[in-house]
Amino acid sequence: AGSPPILSVNNIEVVYDNVFLAVKGVSLDVAEGGVVALLGANGAGKSTTLKAISGLLKPERGAVTRGDIAFRGESLLGLDPPDRVRLGLVHVLEGRRVFEHLTPRENLIAATSMHRDRRGVKDLIDRTFTWFPRLAERAKAKAGYLSGGEQQMLAIGRALMTEPKLLMLDEPSLGLSPLLVDEIFDILRKVNAEAGVAVLLVEQNAAAALDFVDQAYLVDNGRVVMGGAAATVKANPDVQAAYLGGG
Ligand code: ATP
Repeated sequence: AGSPPILSVNNIEVVYDNVFLAVKGVSLDVAEGGVVALLGANGAGKSTTLKAISGLLKPERGAVTRGDIAFRGESLLGLDPPDRVRLGLVHVLEGRRVFEHLTPRENLIAATSMHRDRRGVKDLIDRTFTWFPRLAERAKAKAGYLSGGEQQMLAIGRALMTEPKLLMLDEPSLGLSPLLVDEIFDILRKVNAEAGVAVLLVEQNAAAALDFVDQAYLVDNGRVVMGGAAATVKANPDVQAAYLGGG
C-alpha cells in the first residue's frame, strides 16, 4: 500500500479482425517492484494482454486495443513499442528470439540504445553476465548453439540491457526442464531484488509461477476471473483442481 502501481491496466479490450474479442475488459495492477503472474489456459488471452501493454498490437494489422493503460503515471495509448521501452517497459516474447548468428555478447550489445557510451554498455554487459553466469561461460559461442534454457536467459538478458523498470515475460518456462525453470526464476528473483525491476509474466506452468510471484491473476476466456496474493490463489480449490493437478 502507499505508492501507486507502476503499471495500471484498466478495463482493456482487444479485438482481432473486427470480430474476435480476445480480451474482454481486463484490469490489473503491478506494484513498484512487484512480481505478478497472469495464469490461465491456452488461448485465454494472456499473450494478447501483454502485447497490448507493450504496444505490439497494430490497428493497421487488424488488432484494436481499447481501454486505458498507465505506466509510471503516464498513459501508454498512442506510444509505439520503442517509446514504451524508453519509459522502462520491456517485453520478452514467447519463443526466445535471439540473433542465432551472433554471440551472447553481440546479442546483448545489439539490444542497447545507440545513445549509450562504451563504458555504459560494458557495465550493462557485466551486470547481465553476473546475473547469467552461464551466458558468460558461453560468451564466444553463437547463440544458435546455446541450449533452450540458455537462449531463454539470453532473451531475458537482452531485455535487461534496456534497463527496464518493468520486465514482461511470455512463458519463460516453455519447453524447459523443471531444474532450468527454477534456475530462471531464481535469476529473476535476484534481478527483482537487486535492480528493483518489477516482473509481469504469463505462464501456463501455474505451479512454478505461483511459487515465484507475489500476486497472480487468473485469466479465462478473455477475462480476469480471480486475482490476489499468490498464496491465496494457490490455496483456492478451483485453482487446485484446474491448474495445479489437485482436486
Ligand atoms: P497462449 O498461451 O496459447 O498464447 P493466451 O492465453 O496467451 O494463450 P492469446 O494468445 O492471447 O492467448 O490468444 C487469445 C485468443 O486470441 C485465442 O483465441 C487466439 O486464437 C486469438 N488470437 C491471438 N492472436 C490472434 C491474431 N493475431 N489474430 C486473430 N486472433 C488471434
